[in-house]
Amino acid sequence: MPTFQNWSGDVQATPRQIAYPATENEILNLVKQAQAEGLRIRLVGHGHSFMPLIHTGDMLISLEKYQGVVAADVANCQAVVKAGTQIGKMGKMLYDYGMGLANQGDIDVQSIAGAISTGTHGSGVSFGSLATMVVGMRIITASGEIIDCSETQNREVFKAAQVSMGMMGIISTLRLQLVPAYKLHYHTDKMRLSEGLSRLEEAKKNRNFEFYYFPHTEIIQRKIMNATDEPADSYGIANYLSDVVLENWVFQAFSTLSKYIPPLTIPIAKLIGPAASSASRKCWSHEVYPTPRLVRFREMEYNIPAQYFEEAIVAIKKVIDEKQFRVHFPIECRFVKSDDIWLSPAFGRESAYIAVHQYKGMESKPYFDAVEAICQSYGGRPHWGKLNTCDTAYLSKNYPHWEDFLRIRRKLDPKGMFLNDYLKSVFE
Ligand SMILES: Cc1cc2nc3c(=O)[nH]c(=O)nc-3n(C[C@H](O)[C@H](O)[C@H](O)COP(=O)(O)OP(=O)(O)OC[C@H]3O[C@@H](n4cnc5c(N)ncnc54)[C@H](O)[C@@H]3O)c2cc1C
Repeated sequence: MPTFQNWSGDVQATPRQIAYPATENEILNLVKQAQAEGLRIRLVGHGHSFMPLIHTGDMLISLEKYQGVVAADVANCQAVVKAGTQIGKMGKMLYDYGMGLANQGDIDVQSIAGAISTGTHGSGVSFGSLATMVVGMRIITASGEIIDCSETQNREVFKAAQVSMGMMGIISTLRLQLVPAYKLHYHTDKMRLSEGLSRLEEAKKNRNFEFYYFPHTEIIQRKIMNATDEPADSYGIANYLSDVVLENWVFQAFSTLSKYIPPLTIPIAKLIGPAASSASRKCWSHEVYPTPRLVRFREMEYNIPAQYFEEAIVAIKKVIDEKQFRVHFPIECRFVKSDDIWLSPAFGRESAYIAVHQYKGMESKPYFDAVEAICQSYGGRPHWGKLNTCDTAYLSKNYPHWEDFLRIRRKLDPKGMFLNDYLKSVFE
């Protein structure tokens, strides 16, 4: 039996069949095969979700052979792309047309459909998640019907499908609203958490702003990006030392030490903040957003209403200090614009995202549970791709369009072809 595992290695599946269709017709034929044989289908993008979204014993479909730009509409700054297209490759293709995504997250190896399906986001109060950049979609449903949807065509299907973890069917192509290609000047600085919080509103005025808080210290590292017309820098040795050597190799060594000698974790955490390197560079947007992530970890991320962010991060620092959780990974804090996508964590509210990480193989549960309780006390909504323990009762209270989403899901997929056991337990 073929096996498949996600990036963190925590989700392992042994599907009866793994299929790599290269055309829309081949995707359609797989749906027909699944209908005939009574198989359930799960889609996998690049397997970078931590939740068991790709888990199945039946048919797993990867669109890695179904990549590329189908049509570019430079006048309207839009492009139609195949759902399996990797974000990094797409960035280069769009750049050749003089266009780019208005914002991105901190890696670019995900498929575009996989990324939008969990609400993947970057940081910057003027921008929504990647799903907000989708203006049209073509979906192959459980019945084998192909539905085109957008704000003006099959709108309910569109609002349900924009963030839907593959439950509405197989996204075949996506029409994206882009922006003219642009360069960003990226730089970092460090300060005390208290100072960072007192200057938060001013910092949020930057085009892109996020920060890392280093547990067991008072230190934050801010990452700031603004548009620039200056020439792009070449990717020099200083960037390589900061991105690859310090943030990955040295961090990997510290992580291994923490895993095998757990009492060293907190002393190591106290070293990492002060040692965080500073960086500055000017690049085309698709080159500056992603950073290499070579150290494997588990992650939980919550969206909370932006107005509660300061209280929440202070409460999280307090619980780490009080409980002395053995954690050396920084906490990532990001800010995202409100949107109107039914299952988007940012639905109807200006949002802050707080992400906690633990090195693979180290105990994460008590730490994640404590942070999850704090985030939930502020009406937190989980990132769908990242670890969380939310059940239907909690989620239905926190998503105003929960019942609408379920109604459309049941209409398009009454037999649950696109549900696995985890999704069934929450969305049936
Ligand atoms: C190192 C790392 C860094 C990350 N950084 C960020 C970040 O900066 N910001 C952020 O928000 N998230 C981030 N994430 C989370 C990640 O972006 C999401 O989990 C994303 O969904 C993964 O994309 P993928 O292509 O790997 O999709 P997968 O994880 O393979 O799949 C995600 C979902 O999409 C569905 N799907 C895939 N293709 C299709 C299709 N064609 N039609 C319908 N459904 C489909 C799958 O069934 C699944 O439900 C990070 C994760 C990792 C491991």
